[in-house]
Amino acid sequence: MIRLPTPVAVTLVIASALGPFAIPTAQAEPAAKFLFSQKKTPTAGPTRSIGFYSNGCLGGGAQLPADGPHWQAMRLSRNRRFGNPVTIAVIERIAGDAAKTGVWPGLLVGDISQPRGGPMSSGHSSHQIGLDFDVWLRPMPTPRLTAAQRETYPFRSVLKKGTFSVDDRIWNDHYRDLIKITAEQPEVQRIFVHPGIKKKLCETAGRDRGWLAKVRPYYGHYEHFHVRLFCPPGSTTCKPQKAAGSGDGCSKLDWWFNVALQPSPPNAKPPKPKPPLTLAGMPAACRAVLAAPAAGGASGGAMTAAQTTPPPAGALVAKPSPRPRR
Ligand SMILES: [Zn+2]
Repeated sequence: MIRLPTPVAVTLVIASALGPFAIPTAQAEPAAKFLFSQKKTPTAGPTRSIGFYSNGCLGGGAQLPADGPHWQAMRLSRNRRFGNPVTIAVIERIAGDAAKTGVWPGLLVGDISQPRGGPMSSGHSSHQIGLDFDVWLRPMPTPRLTAAQRETYPFRSVLKKGTFSVDDRIWNDHYRDLIKITAEQPEVQRIFVHPGIKKKLCETAGRDRGWLAKVRPYYGHYEHFHVRLFCPPGSTTCKPQKAAGSGDGCSKLDWWFNVALQPSPPNAKPPKPKPPLTLAGMPAACRAVLAAPAAGGASGGAMTAAQTTPPPAGALVAKPSPRPRR
């Protein structure tokens, strides 16, 4: 195996190339995503969701079992099925309620968080404190998927190809009811779906519309929906997000279709990518989470080449600007 240079080594090489006048700054630190993605196990000790959904970490995380009575966790090799125990309980409850009411045969659960949370080497800006999780917009099939099948089972969009509208050959009221069951869990703070899905929910919700307040339109999210939980009661380390508001949000969708989802003009400046998070820019307690011994005394795990190598530039899909608040 060819050993790839670690981010630290690369940083040192760059720093020395800059000569004696280079002043080390916080930016010289390795990106925190490399440090957190190398940890294979959670820390021992009490659970703490530390910081904000998009800048924080997780101590004492719990793991969602790969299979449950009414769910299967997907892409097991990613090792991202750790969360606050509250999150694990909510997933199990949604899966059970949806199955018992005949709404959904079983959940395909996507990413939750890494064993110690933190930023990931690919895929999400949130999911850092064990209180976010993704649910596929595909029912669990019969027979169940094997572990190997779960690595490659394709994502499937519920939108009609080339449009921002839900494909009625795929979509039915069961999809709506699964999202409704999810929104009605008291621990759920907000849910992100594609604006086309939100529109469909608005059109088909009927008179009972309170739950729609938690369902927010956002880019992407047409193959899965994203669920965010409130900070657990009594947590002193979790930084809450502003309330989702109380209106159903159905009269505010035009901007999404007319502006946000339209292609940028050809001369538009692409949005400047944010510099990656470093430990210096994260809650101080996350340094201790990273250094803490693993639960059960096992090692925190070694870094593999796949985890130390940043994704190729082409893998970073530019998103339209302006970026609204989630
Ligand atoms: Zn997500």
